[in-house]
Amino acid sequence: MGHEWLPLQRSPDSTGEPPAVDFDSLGLGEPLLRAVADKGYRVPSPIQRDCIPAVLSGRDVMAAAQTGTGKTAGFTLPMLERLRHGPHARAGVVRALVLTPTRELAAQVGESVTAYGRYLDLRSDVVFGGVKVNPQISRLQRGTDVLVATPGRLMDLHQQKALRLDRVEILVLDEADRMLDMGFIRDIQKILALLPAKRQNLLFSATFNPSIRRLATGLLHNPLQLQASPENRTATTVEHILHPCDMGRKPDLLCHLIASNDWRQVLVFSRTKHGANRLAERLTQEGMAAAAIHGNKSQGARTRALAGFKSGELRVLVATDLAARGIDIHQLPHVVNLDLPNQAEDYVHRIGRTGRAGHNGHAVSLVAAEEHELLRAIEKMIGTALPRQEVPGFEPKVLSAPPLDLSGGRGRGGPPRTGSRRPSSSAPSGRRGGGGGRSEAGRPESGRRPQRRG
Ligand code: AMP
Repeated sequence: MGHEWLPLQRSPDSTGEPPAVDFDSLGLGEPLLRAVADKGYRVPSPIQRDCIPAVLSGRDVMAAAQTGTGKTAGFTLPMLERLRHGPHARAGVVRALVLTPTRELAAQVGESVTAYGRYLDLRSDVVFGGVKVNPQISRLQRGTDVLVATPGRLMDLHQQKALRLDRVEILVLDEADRMLDMGFIRDIQKILALLPAKRQNLLFSATFNPSIRRLATGLLHNPLQLQASPENRTATTVEHILHPCDMGRKPDLLCHLIASNDWRQVLVFSRTKHGANRLAERLTQEGMAAAAIHGNKSQGARTRALAGFKSGELRVLVATDLAARGIDIHQLPHVVNLDLPNQAEDYVHRIGRTGRAGHNGHAVSLVAAEEHELLRAIEKMIGTALPRQEVPGFEPKVLSAPPLDLSGGRGRGGPPRTGSRRPSSSAPSGRRGGGGGRSEAGRPESGRRPQRRG
């Protein structure tokens, strides 16, 4: 609530960036400005400044914007402004459709639609899988001005004739890269085929890889292209740090860091569900309130854990990449990579949870010798080396090791070999010794494995 967006880290004069504008000058009507004021926003974020007038003018938009840039208000505010001038949704009809990859993101976008639309007479709804379908069917009968949905459940509802998509005026694909990663492309294509040809399309994606560009080409007409932060770069307000560490000592090091720095709210990423569970148990044993969220947890358990983490009841939330997507936690101060992600792009997504809305964040990666190849890929993508810092008492003994087997099978390589420690604290290279190994062996949950039915 009420913090001010700091869109530019540098003075406007020295960068040639346009000066900050007010929300009032963007073309939004009074009911939306009032809702924005209620939220305590004073200055539009860069993506909002550019996106809001473009959407109001009816243009298609393609924006490279990760969570934390204010993208949700960037599309929701002008969408509501346009919808409020047209006739209300008739029975069964959806006027604006927002597709999101995950249930959590759908719920969050739904909350934003409710908050920004509080002075408007528009009906909005959120539908996703994992909960009963019948209440959703009966709610949709009356017609919905804004429907936020995950693709799988939307298709189910359409097959059950619970809604019509042939009157959609505005389509938003939020976190489109995630939707493709999660194997939703066929559902998306089916949904697109149900929409009328004449409509406005808004596509948001943290990264623009070739498959997103292909999707965009078939979808968008003469789009305004926006970039909230340089492509594939992490937010500038995040301080990155890498602690070299042996694989088997990571949980100890994490406990040490949390306790000695007195971190109060820490989001930890684990590559595997099993690793997430084990770490949460360990932290709990150490007296730190912790919970794990991943795809094997019920929707109820995930929602409860997230609520506990947001309220401060839980000090540590351990999440896999899939479970954490789109989580919006205000001013999250610390993000820790217990494991590096398999996909370099996921580093950007993970780190997108901290340093949000102009606040400083702290991104810590615990990196073992086995993860060197992953580290190299990440550093190449973000265009900079992560600063290394050894933690006294946790200096790695293993200085190089065979790379991790990310296929979910057993790691390759023969017996571990131990090498001598390097004198400097630079790259954590070396050989793998005892006391470690890939303790979180288990199936990685992040990434490209198709994951259906959001
Ligand atoms: P998003 O990138 O849409 O997930 O938004 C990130 C966070 O920034 C959310 O907690 C929003 O409530 C907040 N936010 C969005 N726009 C503004 C703004 N103009 N000023 C301050 N905070 C904002």
